[in-house]
Amino acid sequence: MRNSQGSIQELAGAGSPITMSHRPTPSVSSYMKSCGDFTKETKQERMRGYLRKYHQNPANRRKHEAHGIVHEALKSGRLIRADACEKCGHPTVEAHHENYSKPLKVNWLCRKCHKALHRKTHCLRGHPLTPDTVYMRPNGERICSQCAIDRVQTYRDAKKKDRA
Ligand SMILES: [Zn+2]
Ligand SMILES: [Zn+2]
Ligand SMILES: [Zn+2]
Repeated sequence: MRNSQGSIQELAGAGSPITMSHRPTPSVSSYMKSCGDFTKETKQERMRGYLRKYHQNPANRRKHEAHGIVHEALKSGRLIRADACEKCGHPTVEAHHENYSKPLKVNWLCRKCHKALHRKTHCLRGHPLTPDTVYMRPNGERICSQCAIDRVQTYRDAKKKDRA
């Protein structure tokens, strides 16, 4: 960013014959564009990295596979989607797996009940929550220890990258 601004000043300092109306506009717009492209690219890269990590995790892979199997089973009629949530009777349901290694054993829950259940059994990122994996903060907030470990690891990776 500093480079392109510097080059504008250099151009001006060199007393270039280009008129004011022409000079800054193309440089500024191309600078804006390249800046926008840059953030988009890193976002995509970050997403790719995240997905790679996601699928490297065997638990996530099983979950992904289970969803694929449910989808196929629904199409072939091996599995029938319930027409109401098991907990509250809401007519729109999604499949919940108690155990991803049994992909056809599903509970049909509405989005709300499904989310509520996962909040109790899994953290926001899908790590299973057991008394062993949950830290309790003094204020009563529950913390997923796997997420905490991941956060430290991400922080260390970022630092390593900075130094490299
Ligand atoms: Zn679920
Ligand atoms: Zn429900
Ligand atoms: Zn977690």
